[in-house]
Amino acid sequence: MIDLVSTLQRHFGHGSFRTGQEALVRAVLEGRDVLAVMPTGSGKSLGFQLPALMLPGTTLVVSPLISLMKDQVDDLDRRGIRAAALHSMLSADARGDALRAARLGDLRLLYVAPERFASDQFTQLLREVPIARFVIDEAHCVSEWGHDFRPDYRRLRDAAAACRRGDGRAGRPPVAAFTATATPEVRDDIVDLLGLARPHVIVAGFDRPNIHLRVVPVAGDNEKHRVLAGLVGSRRALVYASTRKKAEAAAGTLQAAGIEAAAYHAGLEDAERTRVQEAFASGAMRVVCATNAFGMGIDRPDVDAVIHVDITGSVEAYYQEIGRAGRDGRDATATLLWNYADVRTREFLIDRGREEQPERQGMAVDPADIARRKDLEHRKLRRMVAYADATGCLRATILRYFGDPAAREPCGACGNCDRRTTLGAADLDLVRTVLSGIAQAGERYGRRKIVAMLVGDVEALPDALASLPASGALREERPRTIEHWIDAACGAGLIRVSGDQYRTLSLTAPGRDVMDGRALDVSMAPPVALPAKGGRRASTGRRLVAPRTGELGLRARASRPPAGQPHDSPGPRSVSSVGVSDALRAWRIEQARRRSVPPYVILHDRTLDAIASALPASLEDLRGLPGIGPAKLDAFGDDILGLVAAVLSKTG
Ligand code: ADP
Ligand code: ZN
Repeated sequence: MIDLVSTLQRHFGHGSFRTGQEALVRAVLEGRDVLAVMPTGSGKSLGFQLPALMLPGTTLVVSPLISLMKDQVDDLDRRGIRAAALHSMLSADARGDALRAARLGDLRLLYVAPERFASDQFTQLLREVPIARFVIDEAHCVSEWGHDFRPDYRRLRDAAAACRRGDGRAGRPPVAAFTATATPEVRDDIVDLLGLARPHVIVAGFDRPNIHLRVVPVAGDNEKHRVLAGLVGSRRALVYASTRKKAEAAAGTLQAAGIEAAAYHAGLEDAERTRVQEAFASGAMRVVCATNAFGMGIDRPDVDAVIHVDITGSVEAYYQEIGRAGRDGRDATATLLWNYADVRTREFLIDRGREEQPERQGMAVDPADIARRKDLEHRKLRRMVAYADATGCLRATILRYFGDPAAREPCGACGNCDRRTTLGAADLDLVRTVLSGIAQAGERYGRRKIVAMLVGDVEALPDALASLPASGALREERPRTIEHWIDAACGAGLIRVSGDQYRTLSLTAPGRDVMDGRALDVSMAPPVALPAKGGRRASTGRRLVAPRTGELGLRARASRPPAGQPHDSPGPRSVSSVGVSDALRAWRIEQARRRSVPPYVILHDRTLDAIASALPASLEDLRGLPGIGPAKLDAFGDDILGLVAAVLSKTG
């Protein structure tokens, strides 16, 4: 193998590669198509800059931002590497120089904006200049699922196909796509739409080992405000909230506790926003309580703590925001205050937001498209809820989400790993009883049935389960407590949950060893005690979410709309309507998956809403609702009535 470190040292002055960089450089050198997913700032550019120095021909780099191109070209200039950029802000002279140098084959790297490929002069140039690698930076711009869709990126596949290879071989030059956006939809789009051929996919650099992750369940807003000042303490901190009102409330709470803090959000006057931003950047202001509007260009390396008082809409957003902690490599913490009620705010923002979103560049606002996007955002939110509810290692949960192979469980530096202990005799007994219950029931049931059996709730059970020895074995425990133990045992790898809609529980090999008493040292994070119930409170706290159609794990939620909504609140909805709406949504996802169609093809949102508010009791009632034609009535009528009836019987 060639020694790349000395080349790195000689041209870039770095003594060693960062995680993933060397593998990336080698993959690009090798000549296969490459898709590299690495976070911003992790040193992706080296992945094409270093090979560009070693390969015959010019490396063409498509980049959407002129400022980014200029920075890189300036940086390469300083290092004595010949590079140029072609974009609309160039003077005629400068453009002439760049074109000439490119034609002469003088350039190691040529940066271009995607619009360039519409110009005949430029495509003519491409036919003359042999291209070593066709590099596409910020490759997620090709995807409508990404956040900065650029229609020009759709042309790049053909553009690459029209290039000549630097090594003189037939076919187009190898394509290397780079992005920091990791969702499966975006990745699939990149591969499909840019025409990557069996790409070597490299995911790296997502782990931030110096950030300690934790999730703190809270009962509601009062508890959040009680713990906030303690979490901030004397540290430099960013506090993120889902709405402007909540950001201001958090700042108010901190100020009342004698901590100098300011709110920051898009609703402030420009002057105030600038003041807060500059005060934080200079270090004069120690704490900022912000919506996601804050962060762009905030480069203080010494942020000690990032605290989220509300759940974010996605794991990506969460990771990007907590990534602002500990940039200097010193220990930092990321804390999520977790209350299930906040999910409603997020759902509300998703359902509301999209219709109001102005037309994107070059994208028609097609209702089917809006429905697809909403559905995607709901799915992203569910993944974030799964993080908040995770019983296993939090870091491994996030890294697995991004597909980063660095995920190693347990990490030893997250709240759940900290809480891992060897179970005492009483807890071990309880876990063994749970495992044995699952085994006795034939490993064919989901969590809800198993819990009902263990607490002896025979009405909810088929006879076969009611008569088992395990039935009623844990009758003195609260059902919720057992649910949590089951989750914890899943996190510890003793119980497996099937991937289908039934979410059947079964035992793993280690789980069997524990049940049979072959393994006595059981290490896991026991469930967190639920926050004390303050008076009459709707069900919140650590809760598993999506109702499963297989067993209708329905649960009524707060009938009050969540506090602090930025838009007009919808009128209060009844507990039943909320429950029905949730149940329908879960059911619809299942139906869509079974038929491999998008959910809106099953039923539109407005139809779900109409059903949730009408609560139909008969096919007759259902027939009159918008979006319910004879075909839908025939296909889904019974299912829908069954769901509605099930929720009503639960919620009264
Ligand atoms: P990205 O494109 O992933 O956002 P960059 O490629 O711009 O990140 O790199 C971010 C910074 O890291 C740059 O200042 C770069 O010089 C530096 N860097 C990259 N690789 C290394 C390395 N192996 N050792 C030290 N610094 C590096
Ligand atoms: Zn961990």
